[in-house]
Amino acid sequence: MIEKRKTDSKPEADIEAMFKEEIGVLQQAEVIAANPPSDKTAVARAFQNLTEEYKNLLQQAMKMTRIGDMAQEKLRRTQEDLSGANEKLERQAKTDGLTGLLNRRYLDTALTKAFDTAREHSRPLTVAMSDVDFFKKVNDNFSHQTGDEVLRAVAKILRDTVRDSDTVARYGGEEFVMLFPDLPVEGGLAIAERVRAAVQAYDWSTIHPDLKITISIGVSADLSLANAEKLLAKADEKLYEAKHGGRNQVRH
Ligand code: GH3
Ligand code: MG
Ligand code: MG
Repeated sequence: MIEKRKTDSKPEADIEAMFKEEIGVLQQAEVIAANPPSDKTAVARAFQNLTEEYKNLLQQAMKMTRIGDMAQEKLRRTQEDLSGANEKLERQAKTDGLTGLLNRRYLDTALTKAFDTAREHSRPLTVAMSDVDFFKKVNDNFSHQTGDEVLRAVAKILRDTVRDSDTVARYGGEEFVMLFPDLPVEGGLAIAERVRAAVQAYDWSTIHPDLKITISIGVSADLSLANAEKLLAKADEKLYEAKHGGRNQVRH
């Protein structure tokens, strides 16, 4: 009789051993057929033994096929899980945890790419740097938690107000950068103004009854500057002017 194989042994070794046994069974059958014993009961017994062994072998082959299928399915699921985890990691690496916007690291790459593409194809590009006015007071007068809620709401207003093709990133604490590809300065200013007005018009009392929030925005579309970094620095300069000009305004 064939011994039952352990299922945790190496499958290749198992399969090879099984085929060897199968060949052995067939060889025995050949020997018996070539020299049939005169005793008919002996023939019947030998034949019964052989069919028994053969049946056993086939059952084991079926079992191995099932194990193989299960292993393949498990592998497929593991691969699916891995690629899902990978996508999640990639998404997390470019996302700001508090607001869900793109983060600064992503922005740095995106800005350089947008700047180079715009220059290469002689297309416009407008960059806007925005900053929440007197945000420190929100934390001080209300709470840090209220401050966080304000940042999330500002992020959502920005994202909902610009076009889908525009990039919105959280640059730092309460600073957000927007990239408007293919928009000359007038178009960029128009969107920036729409964003500023939307923040002012938002019903902040949903967060706290005494809360009022505005933002200042600096805009630049000067592609004659040496690089993307300088373009952003120019927008920051304009933001500074907006702050000193009285806040809640857009400057370029
Ligand atoms: P200005 O109008 O000149 O911009 O004044 P400001 O008070 O907004 O400017 P300032 O840079 O002095 O204050 C920014 C504050 O933002 C200080 C910091 O504690 C707060 N801040 C930065 N990151 C976070 C954050 O993730 N959550 C909260 N709640 N506050 C933050
Ligand atoms: Mg600031
Ligand atoms: Mg501020």
